[in-house]
Amino acid sequence: MSKDYYKILGVERNASENEIKSAYRKLAHQHHPDKQGGDEKKFKEINEAYQVLSNKEKKAQYDQFGTTFEGAQGAGGFSGFGGFNPNDFQNWNFQGGFGENDFGDIFESIFEQFGGSNRKRATARRGNDIETEERLSLEDAFRGADRMIKFKTYVSCAKCGGPGYDETKGFGTCAKCKGKGELRAERRTVFGNFSQIVVCDACNGSGKTPNALCSACSGKGRVSDTKEVKFSIAPGIEDGQVLQVRGGGEAGERGAQGGDLFVRIRVQPHSVFTRKKEDLYMKKEISPIGALLGKKFSAKDISGEEFHFSVPEDFDINEPLKIKGRGMPRFGSSSRGDLYIKISIRTPKKLSKKATQLLEELEKEI
Ligand SMILES: [Zn+2]
Ligand SMILES: [Zn+2]
Repeated sequence: MSKDYYKILGVERNASENEIKSAYRKLAHQHHPDKQGGDEKKFKEINEAYQVLSNKEKKAQYDQFGTTFEGAQGAGGFSGFGGFNPNDFQNWNFQGGFGENDFGDIFESIFEQFGGSNRKRATARRGNDIETEERLSLEDAFRGADRMIKFKTYVSCAKCGGPGYDETKGFGTCAKCKGKGELRAERRTVFGNFSQIVVCDACNGSGKTPNALCSACSGKGRVSDTKEVKFSIAPGIEDGQVLQVRGGGEAGERGAQGGDLFVRIRVQPHSVFTRKKEDLYMKKEISPIGALLGKKFSAKDISGEEFHFSVPEDFDINEPLKIKGRGMPRFGSSSRGDLYIKISIRTPKKLSKKATQLLEELEKEI
């Protein structure tokens, strides 16, 4: 049974020495067996709690291990330890062969667990995530694209298919646990001896270990190789967006989950269009007379499609001219942003006599 000494004394875990002392005095006084209404059992409990919490060394041990080790001898002694899960010890320990693995490792694991830290002992290791960048033209960002990239990483072992051993060679009795599937870990502490039955990490509790490691991966279940990953980029993707390709990273050890691939998209600058979110901007030089006459001009949008526009009446040439729906696709939607044309005009190089005359007449007219 675990005992929460802080709870027994009714103080917070971060209580000061003085707070612990005064809480103890108050409770000891209240439950003293010589007093009417006293409670001997409770009084003993309070004393036990105070003996630990008032002693710096014992308190530190207690804080670290979460409870007292007194009375914790024997296999069942740790049932009260919070957070202990035998499954956390399920790990194949192939490195360095079978049976002769370091026992101290197991102790460390136990103390990690008992210390209340969230550091779980690693089971077969998950593959690492991989980050990469992919350049994309604005046209591809407009249309969407399928890509295939190749890189060196760990891939699942093709020979054994991931477990890391040669199944055809059969299984033998686990040398580490002598086939029991569990191990007894013992340790002396200032609170006394304790022991704990844990799942054997060499055989994962099965009591059997494979007779032969996979010759291709030496038991790791993965090998270094070139990996090809395909992924699709949806239309409208923006520069800097990151795609996650599940399972596109490193293969895990011994069949453990693979890592993911994270692709940061870098949309390259375009020679004609500048992008602002889903809108595009472009420049277009037109003739001033044509503009005045409301003539149709033609241009091509990012899809390569030709379209026509004219300069509307009463229009300030310093403002961009908005062409609705000819921008970039909105990511994850079928609608498009707009295209803005920054119009520039150039005066004619040399006007003929007649042209000058006509323009002068025009000026008078408007
Ligand atoms: Zn293999
Ligand atoms: Zn075993």
